[in-house]
Amino acid sequence: MTAVLLSGRELSARIRNDTAAAAHVLRAAGTSPALAVVTATADEASASYVRSIARTAARAEVDCEIHDLGPSASEEDIRDWLAKLSADPAVHGIILQTPLPSGVSPLALAGAIDPAKDIDGANPLSLGRLVVGLPAFAPATAAAVLKLLDHHAIGLSGRRVVVVGRSTVVGKPVAHLLLARDATVTICHSRTADLAEYTREADVVVVAAGRAGLVTGAQLRAGCCVIDVGTNTDGAGGIIGDVEAASVLPVAKALSPVPGGVGPVTTALLIEHTVRAAASALR
Ligand code: NAD
Repeated sequence: MTAVLLSGRELSARIRNDTAAAAHVLRAAGTSPALAVVTATADEASASYVRSIARTAARAEVDCEIHDLGPSASEEDIRDWLAKLSADPAVHGIILQTPLPSGVSPLALAGAIDPAKDIDGANPLSLGRLVVGLPAFAPATAAAVLKLLDHHAIGLSGRRVVVVGRSTVVGKPVAHLLLARDATVTICHSRTADLAEYTREADVVVVAAGRAGLVTGAQLRAGCCVIDVGTNTDGAGGIIGDVEAASVLPVAKALSPVPGGVGPVTTALLIEHTVRAAASALR
C-alpha cells in the first residue's frame, strides 16, 4: 500500500476561479475588492510568502497593497497603520505579516484589525467567535486544512483526530474547526510526553509543529490520513514538511504533500476571504 497524495493544487485553482468570478461581480457593482498586507521584517521567507499572496490576488483580479514598514518599525507605527486601514472603506481585508520586529507581539497588535476585515483570523475576537461557533474568519491555514480534508472526502464526524501543535495561528484554530465538525480532537504539543502514544490511535493526524521529520510511519496507525502543515527549509533551497514522507507513505492511506498540499489552499483562501469581506461590506 502506498498513500494517496492529498494535493491542494486543483482545489486551490478552483477556489481562485470562483473567487475571480465573485470579484468580477463585485467590480461590476462598483466595488473593487482590496487586500492590504502590513509587513515589518527583512525576513526573506516572509517576503516570498507576501509575494505569493500578491500573485494569487492578481490572478483573481483582487487589489493587493503591501505596506512595508521595515524591520525597525515601532509597535505604535504598526498599530497606526492597522487602525488607518481598518477605517479605510476601500480596504476589505488586512493581513498583519509575521515575524514582527523583536519585542512586538502580534497578539497585542492584531486587536487593532477590524474583525470584519480580519481575513486571516488574527484578532483574538475572531478566534473567540470561532470557538463559540459565531461567524468569523478562521486563520487561512486552519481553514485550508478543513477544505483539503473535505475536498478529498475524508470524513471527520466521530473520528479520532490528533493535532500536533497548539499555536494561535494553526494548532488551536484547526482543533476548534475539527471539533465543530464532530471529530474527537486531541491536541499534542512540545511538552506532550509520548507523542506516538496519541498519533498511533488517530484516524487523522494534522501536524503543525515546524519540525522536519517529527512524525514518522512507525508512529502511525495503518490506513490513517495525515495532513502536513509544516514548512521547513531542507538546506538545499527547497521546503519540506513535518512528516517523514518516505516512512509515512507505506503506512498511511493518504498524506498531503509539502509543497503542494495545504500551502496553495491557504493563499487561495486569503483572497477568497477578502472577496467575501468585500461582499459583506456592501450589505
Ligand atoms: P509555532 O512555532 O508557533 O508552533 C509550533 C507548535 O508545535 C507549538 O505549539 C509547539 O508546542 C509544537 N511543537 C514543537 N515541537 C514539537 C514536538 N517536538 N512535538 C510536538 N509538538 C511540538 O508554529 P506555527 O506558526 O503553528 O507553524 C507550524 C508549522 O506550520 C511551521 O512549519 C510553519 O511554517 C507552518 N505553517 C504553514 C502554513 C501554510 O500555509 N502551509 C501556514 C502557517 C504555518
